[in-house]
Amino acid sequence: MSESRLRFAPSPTGNLHIGTLRTALFNWIYAKAIGATLVLRIEDTDLARSQVEFETNINQGLDWLGLTMDEGPSQGGGWGPYRQTERNELGFYKAHADRLLQLGYAYHCFCTEADLDQERATAEAEKRPYVYSGRCKALSPSDVQDKRVAQIPFTVKFSVPTGPPVRVKDVIRGDIDFDRSLIGDFVLVKSDQTPSYNFAVVVDDGMMGITDVVRGEDHISNTPKQILLFESLGYVVPKFAHLPMILGPDKSKLSKRHGATGVTEYRAQGFLADAVFNYLMLLGWSSADGKELMTRDEIIHRFTLERVSKSGAVFDVAKLRWMNGQYIRRQTPTELLTHVRPYLSDRVRVALEALGFDRFQAAIYSVRDNLDVLTDCNSFLEVYAMDADSWIAQVRGYSFGATDLTAISTFHAHVRGMTEWTVTGIESMIATVVTETGLGKGKVFKPIRIATSGQPSGPHLAELIWILGQSVVVQRMADVVALLNSVN
Ligand code: GLU
Repeated sequence: MSESRLRFAPSPTGNLHIGTLRTALFNWIYAKAIGATLVLRIEDTDLARSQVEFETNINQGLDWLGLTMDEGPSQGGGWGPYRQTERNELGFYKAHADRLLQLGYAYHCFCTEADLDQERATAEAEKRPYVYSGRCKALSPSDVQDKRVAQIPFTVKFSVPTGPPVRVKDVIRGDIDFDRSLIGDFVLVKSDQTPSYNFAVVVDDGMMGITDVVRGEDHISNTPKQILLFESLGYVVPKFAHLPMILGPDKSKLSKRHGATGVTEYRAQGFLADAVFNYLMLLGWSSADGKELMTRDEIIHRFTLERVSKSGAVFDVAKLRWMNGQYIRRQTPTELLTHVRPYLSDRVRVALEALGFDRFQAAIYSVRDNLDVLTDCNSFLEVYAMDADSWIAQVRGYSFGATDLTAISTFHAHVRGMTEWTVTGIESMIATVVTETGLGKGKVFKPIRIATSGQPSGPHLAELIWILGQSVVVQRMADVVALLNSVN
């Protein structure tokens, strides 16, 4: 382990969404790549919006992707507590605010909302960007004392020192300078005596020894304020890396308007954690060798912050679905069964269980090429749940030609004579039918598929036939041959 300490600091004000998960993922990968410690910090100071169930949802999303944290509320660690409400109760923020007050970097502000609104309106009328006038800075210690005694509500504000522009040295975006006069004195402690976001983050990053901050680009305008606070409090300023925004197909910031953004929804739709992991890594990063399908280890070995792009990354569900399909096809039969099982409808599950374990597992494996997402499984597995009546009704719906009858009866003759019932045996038997009839693969496979399953497309043919079983297939072929002869 290196001395580096990273943190993932979600606010539990909503369910985990794709953007926040991407931030967690990049922190996790970067931590693994450089051997850093990764801290989970729950930023729950917004009491009105923070909820325990959202924290649970965030944890479930992290667990689903296997993004283990080294320290955190449930992991423990020597730099806790790891929830801001608990840190507030211990007086951490108050102590830091008092220090800044003592050092003259902060002051009490008794301005009301109405006062501030008026200042804002004046700035607007004068067409200048609004920054707080800082008038409460001029209050004498005895004025402040009197107002405190009179219990007038107050905030604690940071007094932005004059000086050259604040330089954010961003690992991804390069140097960005912020004019101090446009930053304006900002709130450290709100009137309800809870810390502001900018203040709590700096106190925590400072106290927790965070060395690298990797987060979304939406926080970039907060960074100069935080740098000033780190410096005033005497903490080492961490390195910053701001990840590009995730965009919808119309290039605006990804939102519900573009479809599902919640991680739980992707899981429910049948996306595999490994595919989501791989896909999210490509949102704003690419490997130097252009490889796209990568295991976690391959990503860890290739990852550098320098290769993270500056421009927004478009979230393309079609590509995610494609990638998910690739991951599905790489599963072993056992893995696929484990993943598909929770998505089976009762009807399909009962029908498959009746086949016995080997054929149950083989049935699920036989549809691997048909699935983009796991929820697709039921429609493709329906062939195994279909009873004889529905099967014949389907078969009757097709108009077979003369060559179809040749293919089906040749197949019938061969399948009846098989003494060993194996998938490879069935494959070579079908190859024999192709040669014997001289019809070519397509003209043999399709009628056999329809005759056996009632469907024009579906699972691997030889596997399908093996799973249906020799007696069922032989009976069905006899029925179809009789049907076709009676029609012709
Ligand atoms: N709690 C902040 C958020 O969820 C992140 C803070 C940070 O990374 O600095 O947006």
